[in-house]
Amino acid sequence: MRFITYNTKNFRKIEYLRYLSEDVKNEIAIVSKVIPFKTNNYVVDYLIDWDNYQDDPIYILNFPNRHMLREEQYEMVRRGVEQKLAEKDLYKIINEIRMGLNPHPAQQITNIPKLNGENLKGLQHKYQDIVLFFPTQGQSCHAHCTFCFRWPQFTKELDLQFSMREIDKVIAYIREHEYIHEILFTGGDPMIMSPVTLNRYISEILDAELDNLEVIRFGTKALSYWPFTFLPAFNEEAEQMLSMFKRIVDRGIHLSIMAHFNHYVELDNEIVQEAISNIRLTGAQIRTQSPILKHINNSSEVWARMWNDQVNLGLVPYYMFVERETGPFEYFQITLQEAYQIYTDAIRSTGSLAKTLTGPVMSASNGKVQVMGIVENPLDGNKYFMMQYVRHRDYKQTYKPFFMQYDENATWVDQLNQMRVNR
Ligand SMILES: *Cc1c(COP(=O)(O)O)cnc(C)c1O
Ligand code: SF4
Repeated sequence: MRFITYNTKNFRKIEYLRYLSEDVKNEIAIVSKVIPFKTNNYVVDYLIDWDNYQDDPIYILNFPNRHMLREEQYEMVRRGVEQKLAEKDLYKIINEIRMGLNPHPAQQITNIPKLNGENLKGLQHKYQDIVLFFPTQGQSCHAHCTFCFRWPQFTKELDLQFSMREIDKVIAYIREHEYIHEILFTGGDPMIMSPVTLNRYISEILDAELDNLEVIRFGTKALSYWPFTFLPAFNEEAEQMLSMFKRIVDRGIHLSIMAHFNHYVELDNEIVQEAISNIRLTGAQIRTQSPILKHINNSSEVWARMWNDQVNLGLVPYYMFVERETGPFEYFQITLQEAYQIYTDAIRSTGSLAKTLTGPVMSASNGKVQVMGIVENPLDGNKYFMMQYVRHRDYKQTYKPFFMQYDENATWVDQLNQMRVNR
């Protein structure tokens, strides 16, 4: 199977686009000037139900639509395109809109560690036992999620890429900090790298024989956007990828694929199921995570079925995230109380093997905060969110329940007031 990319320039070639009106196609062309747009032949041919594309979760996940921008922003770009503004002037408009879309939520930039006084700009070290590694060649994806919080790195012009190739420095850093036990390859999508490139990184890590390194993780959406990565029958490189997984496992290092699935339709065909099975045969474990998003998966039935399907396929449900405030988040956003309700309704109706999941969780600047409950104080009749950090910069702050004043419209923890105890 050959990988065919569709983007702003060539998406009109997609055969199924006959289902779309000219107006809709023009809207895609306009909005995709602001929101990075990329999809591919697998997503288009296997995942999207074109008969019902307006409501199709995967269509919405990949194709920008005009409601993802505010009306006045959309109009600004539309007028610019209509008036055939010079590239440079149109870009000025686009860039201004992008800068208003909060390109760096939760101060990701501040977690960059130093080695011998030098910033390691492709590494993030926020929680003591784990580092995130952003390999330069893994900073794009097989397709782009319209909600993605990493979107600035797909817009070259913004030049906000944080990545590196010098694995020797990463190794030295891990060696120097013996309390680091895990490295998470992330992006973009590290599985977009050829196995040869990825293997260079992995071989150096394995050859370094780091005593403290116990776990390697890959954060990836390849299982839903390009499962052929793991299918030797379709693709020669897949064999190399799978044998690299096996090599990691054989070295006694736990390999965890952190797979990103937003909807059960991504699990519902033989291609992805065979890819899952091939990965599991290497001894790697697959854990799953996804944000909860309006228009895509804001229903407890979708989550319950997705988790059950995952368990049946041998995957381990791991995190349900609350959507971050970046990019077109207003389009996808749901309130904390809705997220909590959907989570509870969903997890109640799954078998116990799906209850390995933590949710709903916000990845905030101090750590990952979980909404544990909505409770009413019998003494004053007021409602509160009960929360806890499941991850905190300071691990001693984790797993301590605390209360925040309930706000039915709140969508993020920093909109809430901490409960005051009056004595
Ligand atoms: C989520 C995250 C991790 C991994 O956290 P786990 O709870 O171990 O899955 C590591 N570093 C950063 C910066 C993160 O946001
Ligand atoms: S696969 Fe992940 S990094 Fe890539 S666009 Fe989607 S959410 Fe963003």
